[in-house]
This record gives sequence, C-alpha cells and structure tokens, in this order.
Amino acid sequence: MEAALAGQGHTPAGSARAAELVILNTCTVTSAADGDVHQAIRRLRRENPAARVMVTGCYAQRSPEELAALPGVDWVVGNSHKTEIAEIVAREWDTVRPSGAGIDFHGLVHAGDIGAQTAFLSAPVQDAAGDRTRPNLKIQDGCNNLCTFCIIPSVRGHSRSAAAEDAAGQVRALATHYREVVLSGINLGRWGRERGFAAPGGGPARLAGLVRRLLDETPIERLRLSSIEPMDFSDDLLRMMAAEPRLAAHVHAPLQSGCDATLKRMKRRYRARHYATRVETARAWMPDAAIGADVMAGFPGETDAEFEESRRFIEAMPFTYLHVFTYSERPGTPAGTYPGAVPVRVRKERNAVLRELAAAKNVAFRQRFVGRKVSAVTLEGGLSALSTNYLKVELARPRPANHLVSVRIGGLTAAGLREENPLAVLPS
Ligand code: SF4
Repeated sequence: MEAALAGQGHTPAGSARAAELVILNTCTVTSAADGDVHQAIRRLRRENPAARVMVTGCYAQRSPEELAALPGVDWVVGNSHKTEIAEIVAREWDTVRPSGAGIDFHGLVHAGDIGAQTAFLSAPVQDAAGDRTRPNLKIQDGCNNLCTFCIIPSVRGHSRSAAAEDAAGQVRALATHYREVVLSGINLGRWGRERGFAAPGGGPARLAGLVRRLLDETPIERLRLSSIEPMDFSDDLLRMMAAEPRLAAHVHAPLQSGCDATLKRMKRRYRARHYATRVETARAWMPDAAIGADVMAGFPGETDAEFEESRRFIEAMPFTYLHVFTYSERPGTPAGTYPGAVPVRVRKERNAVLRELAAAKNVAFRQRFVGRKVSAVTLEGGLSALSTNYLKVELARPRPANHLVSVRIGGLTAAGLREENPLAVLPS
C-alpha cells in the first residue's frame, strides 16, 4: 500500500499524529481484534482529527457498512479492493471530506466478492521487511477449508500462491540484509495446490519442493516456516527439516482440539490420531525441535468430558509451547449459531488450564538446553537472540543485531533462556 501511494507522489509521515492520510489495516479473527480496531479509530480521531482515515483489511471485508458508520471513518476498503487503494485516494480525496466538513458522516465503501480474487498480491520485499531482524515473507494467501469457527476464508478468499521464481527472488533479496526469513501464509501448507498453478519443473507443486529450491538457489542462512496445517507436514518436509540446519527446527501445527467429536463439529480435516502421527514423527526425527500448536478453549458443545479428552491428548503430545485461544463467536460463521454455547467463565477456566499445561511443558523443554549450545539469530538491539527451535535467549554480552551465533546456555529466564556468562563460571 505504501509503495502504491508513493507511486502517486505521497510520502510517509513520521507518525499517525502527523499524517494527512492514515490507513488502518485490520484483523477480525476474534471479537477482541474487532474491539482493538474500534479503540484504534477512536484514539486516532482524538490525536489527529484532521487526518483522512481509511480502514482496510479483514474487518473491512467482513463488515464494511458497520465500519463506515463509525464517526471519523472516511473510507472502508475491503481486501477485494486493496490493490486499488492509491487510485481510490487520488480519485476521492476531495469528495470524501470536502473542506470544512466535520467527521460525523458515513464513509465511502469499496468492498466486493473476495472469492473472485485469484491474483496473489504481496508487497515489494523491501517494504515487507522494514527494520525487523526476521522479516515475514508471505508466499500464500486465502484458504479453501471451511472450519466452522473461522471467518478467514470469507475475508481472504480462495487459496492462492506466489510463483516459485518470485519467492526465490524475494528470499535472495532479503538474504542481502537478513540472516532469517519466515515464510508465511494463511494456509501455508497449501502453497502451489490451486488448479492451474504452474509447478517449477512441471511436477506437482508442493511446499517441500519450494523450500528445497529456496535453500538451493538462495544464500539465506535460516528459513523458518510459520504455521502449517498438521496433515501438510509431509514426511518429505519433516525429513528435510531434520537434515537441513538452514531450515529452522520448528514445527507449528494448529490442533484446536484433541477430542474427535469437537474436531468433527469444527470441520477440521483430521482426527486426533492423525495429528499425533505427524507430531510424533517430528519429535522422533528432531529431538530438539520446537513443536507448537494453536488450541481453542470452549468451542460450542464442548462438554467437560470433551475438554478433558482434549486436555489429556495435549498432555501426551511433545509440545514445547501452545497458543491458547478462548473461543469467540464470529458473525457469519456456522459455529456462531451452534447450540451448546459454553459459558464465558468456563471458556476462560479451560483456557487457564491449558496455559498452565503449556507453561509446564515449556519449562521442561527449556531445561534440556542448560549447558548446551544453541544456534540463534541476534535480534534488534543485540541483547537477545532467537534460537532455531524458537527459544529467546538473553545474551551475556551485546552482539550486533542480525547475526547468526552459537550460544552456550547457562540457565532459564522467566520465558526463555540465558546465555552462560563466562566470567561468572571462572573458578575463584
Ligand atoms: S484451515 Fe485455518 S484459515 Fe482455513 S478455515 Fe481452517 S482455521 Fe481458518
């Protein structure tokens, strides 16, 4: 968006307070995310009443009229029209808020059928990178699954993928500045699976093949895969991860529930035993890898017995961390109308139980590295680093940011590891 606006002669303002135009790129994955958007709009209006405000992203796609009715929103642009933002601004700058108009009016809406979007759109790599030390590179968008709790397919559209050559070109460019690149997508494991996608070399396009190509054709020192649906962790992919030190030893596979009845109502495409085979294979082949999952507490109809089944399954899995979500009803999703809503208090209690379980597993995992060396990339500020297996290491002495280092672990911090301090272990 920034690149498109720069093409129209706009320049970036130092802050939202100083800007003439503010674009708010929104999330709508939970009701809490929606609340954050409302709060951000109110804050923006307080701090900069003169700015024109455009709201875009997933909330804008899900419910454009709702946002357009909020005071101080000049435009609402759905994901379907995100590529047209620079043209919309040029065309409607004066009409959207004629000089002297207040902010109490109905914003203009540009939103349509996201399902019709077949192009893969991503920002030029320099813009995606910013000044972070571990840039995310989006190589896939959208999702064809129909998980009953999820709003994402309706706001992001069908699965579509970046061309392999483009991904390689972007990783090559990022490798000139960064040690680690994180490959991301809405449903990353489906990279290249859409009908008509041209596979490199003519065979079927698979994520494992793309990763191999990125490792072979670029000098990137560390490639990390973000979340991948469990059944897309193929043996090929796990075997490569186990054998290739440049590929981060990090498996993140959303689980949501360890109870088959709940998984069925969620319309997840696997059952607990299928999930277990993937995660147990990952652990067998990579004893030190990070293994993480998203899990949901309080899905409609989740009885005490179902929750307990899920908790026991999670306890038995070799997870090293969990992202625990409290279920929240999303308007427009099938689960939003399911009977058997779990009281919010119970959802929160279950969330707390799973977090406690995750914390205990995480401590046990971290303890295994005391006295051992880990490979890590130093982060911004040079005081900490992120290990290949996703542990944050507090450094004993500052290092330049954005370097690959090998660090001996002296102990644990509250949430991560601490580098051994060589001075502290000298005999007195
Ligand atoms: S696979 Fe993920 S993005 Fe796709 S519908 Fe399910 S939860 Fe949503």
